Amino acid sequence: MKIAVFSTKPYDRQFLAAADADGRHRLVWFDARLSAETAPLAAGCGAVCAFVNDVVDRPVLETLAGLGVRLVALRSAGFNNVDLAAAAALGVAVCRVPAYSPQAVAEHTVALILALNRKIHRAYNRVREGNFALDGLLGFDLAGKTVGVVGTGKIGETVARILAGFGCRLLAHDIAENPACTALGARYVPRDALFAESDVVTLHCPLTPDTRHFVDGALLGRARRGLMLVNTSRGAVIDTRAVIRALKDGTLGSLALDVYEEEADLFFENLSDQVIRDDVFARLLTFPNVLITGHQAFFTREALTEIAETTLANVTAFEDTGRPLHPVSSSQVVAGAAR
Ligand code: NAD
Repeated sequence: MKIAVFSTKPYDRQFLAAADADGRHRLVWFDARLSAETAPLAAGCGAVCAFVNDVVDRPVLETLAGLGVRLVALRSAGFNNVDLAAAAALGVAVCRVPAYSPQAVAEHTVALILALNRKIHRAYNRVREGNFALDGLLGFDLAGKTVGVVGTGKIGETVARILAGFGCRLLAHDIAENPACTALGARYVPRDALFAESDVVTLHCPLTPDTRHFVDGALLGRARRGLMLVNTSRGAVIDTRAVIRALKDGTLGSLALDVYEEEADLFFENLSDQVIRDDVFARLLTFPNVLITGHQAFFTREALTEIAETTLANVTAFEDTGRPLHPVSSSQVVAGAAR
């Protein structure tokens, strides 16, 4: 099938081309993000391959359907950027890569926790400038600390397993308990109790109508003072402005982000010669106790291989049977289900 691949970077081309070694599909690369303006580029293609910050709303889907596109193959687990009801109404199938490497995201999460706690990012710069003073670099032992895991699916469970190995006490919160996490010693508690008792909270739930601004000012007001908050799920799971207020008044002790509510205008691009116009993001960058990476938690060789192979397997199955291997439907959002 001819596939219009949007938001492509050199690494996308490398891994997707390798996954299509038998030349079954015809991949057409577009650097541009999918949007109302760029959707016409998919003319002549049966499928569109999109990533996390591509816009797949009703107007885009209407254009794609009008061009004869029958499938949107997401090369991501999350599907919060797709209007699934519109896709269903227009007869455009949507599929995704439900699991590629929970380890990739979990290990990056733990890397953020360790780096933020031990201030590795600050120490790196200091040492390069010949400053070997330790003032300001004081951390805490992770062993014995309480870590709250919100969303104990594939990634949350993997984080819990790693942190159990560090000797952490585990709390968990989810709409459905995962017995594997209970077996690791995690205790399921309500959201407020998790925030009140935890030294570190790490977020691994999908972005759904229920989880948008899950972490808001009211919840942070009930959190343990000095809490470390880590978000590698989706930016809008936290209310960034409320988080900034909590950093300013000391409620929040530190913050690590791999995702940001308005990341679509920033992440995945080299903007080092440009002025950042997003004042909320710019404010976040000024805090010494905030560590941000640009949506790179998934970015391992193993994950990119799996993403590419599953994405093309989805398209192949759709071409052969009329149904992708991993379809996404609007009922999954209503149920707050997996992504
Ligand atoms: P998963 O579906 O295996 O697990 C998600 C868990 O969240 C499930 O157990 C689900 O029951 C729970 N959940 C759903 N609604 C909830 C709610 N209202 N409150 C509490 N828990 C709720 O998904 P996963 O593979 O573990 O991925 C989790 C998220 O991580 C994805 O949705 C995606 O947004 C994000 N992600 C980020 C990156 C990255 O590079 N930063 C990469 C992959 C995935």
